[in-house]
Amino acid sequence: MDDLRCKLLIIGAGPGGYVCGIRAGQLGIDTIVVEADKLGGTCLNVGCIPSKALIHAADEFYKIANIASSPLGISTNPPELNFGKTIDWKDGIVNRLNTGVSGLMKRANTRLIIGSAHFLDGKTVEVTSTQGKQIIRAEYIVIATGSKPAELDYLPFGSDVISSTEVLSLSEVPKKLSIVGGGYIGLEIGTAFAKLGAEVTIVEFADNILPQYDKDLTRPIVKNLKKLGVNILTNTSAKGTSNGALLIETNSGKTQKIDADKILVTVGRSPRTTTIGMEELSLTMNGQFIQIDDKCQTSMRGVYAIGDVTGNPMLAHRAMAQGEMVAEIIAGHERQWDKRCIPAVCFTDPEIVDCGLSLEAASQSGIEIRIGTFPFTANARAMTMECEEGFIRIIARADNHLILGIQGVGVGISELSAAFAIAIEMGACLEDIAGTIHAHPTQSEGLQEACLKALGHALHI
Ligand code: FAD
Repeated sequence: MDDLRCKLLIIGAGPGGYVCGIRAGQLGIDTIVVEADKLGGTCLNVGCIPSKALIHAADEFYKIANIASSPLGISTNPPELNFGKTIDWKDGIVNRLNTGVSGLMKRANTRLIIGSAHFLDGKTVEVTSTQGKQIIRAEYIVIATGSKPAELDYLPFGSDVISSTEVLSLSEVPKKLSIVGGGYIGLEIGTAFAKLGAEVTIVEFADNILPQYDKDLTRPIVKNLKKLGVNILTNTSAKGTSNGALLIETNSGKTQKIDADKILVTVGRSPRTTTIGMEELSLTMNGQFIQIDDKCQTSMRGVYAIGDVTGNPMLAHRAMAQGEMVAEIIAGHERQWDKRCIPAVCFTDPEIVDCGLSLEAASQSGIEIRIGTFPFTANARAMTMECEEGFIRIIARADNHLILGIQGVGVGISELSAAFAIAIEMGACLEDIAGTIHAHPTQSEGLQEACLKALGHALHI
């Protein structure tokens, strides 16, 4: 195959790479995106989208199965689950989005090559595809190769020990599912399978699930997991497998076997840096991640890196924002990473949103702070939707009332993440949000009330 030349070559078409490719094309940059697998990367194919589809299906099933015990006066026959159809529906959404990304890249005149890229030097890449090998030379290269599930030596992936990739395409709901790692991926998937009828055990090394969040935020999640019958084992580590069981050990040294049809390992994700020929480059690393500056520039001129391969937080919207910024930088625009916050959402039951400074970070910052917390038990909309669990908490500077952090836990609260992020990004003070008319009845009134509370005059509590 003939050698190719372009101004910008992007390796990887996950949310970081494809957004970078679309924006670069829109800006008239001659761009090629190389993708080894499917457009959309982890997020679209085996991450954000399929997991949220599964969570939705599980929520619907569980709601109908338990409708008789709700106070709404509705009853129906017990529902039946055709899990194969559920998976087909989920795959249909993924396919629609794959096609959508492909169309957007075409419209932007961005070329796509399906194949695996390998660096020859900082300006040259060899792509291996079903048609053979091809050399591509570029003025700028963006590494957007993402991440893969981290594997434990003593629990290697196989037919019964699986990662988040395989669990999202199972042909049936496992009777007994053990999950090693109580972070957001394990909990989102564990909750969904518990709602679909699996007997779920979660094994977490720390003393709490979702250990990066404070216990006020995780309490409602723990309560609901227990209600679903999920066995939560904290201060416990997995040790291996034995005849269809997971071997675990508590901090006090007690060992136990947990029967499991499937063992899902969700102990984090590793950046994909080893298979792209990085040894041909001399990139400065930040631990296992590629080190970047505030323009996503690596230590080599003309080589940029975005997304999971550059470290935490490993989130699709961070990768997309970096991709958009890098395309503009290459087009000659003056840009730098100056974001005040990257919202993080756990799509657990109920959901958690975390934006800006956490309570712990704010308390340790040395800045005098004011805190306002408003519970959904005092929110009319939450009552009408039977979702009174949770709260919104606002953290602001005591001197000028600048909002530093907003956290919340509650059903459907992910949709408030934009309001939280806008407040912080635009440098809002408590008075700005308190003085904004919030539509009634909505859960968003909880944000206004939390600000009023921090100012000392909440109206509905
Ligand atoms: P990726 O999406 O990993 O894409 C990298 C792409 O590069 C892949 O398509 C890969 O095939 C390709 N590639 C790798 N090597 C090569 C090569 N040598 N040549 C060519 N192509 C190559 N994030 C959120 O923000 N919200 C969520 O709700 C959320 N839920 C998640 C749920 C699960 C179960 C998982 C696993 C992840 C979830 N994430 C979520 C994380 C999110 O998926 C990632 O942060 C995001 O996909 C990172 O984007 P990226 O572009 O950096 O890399």
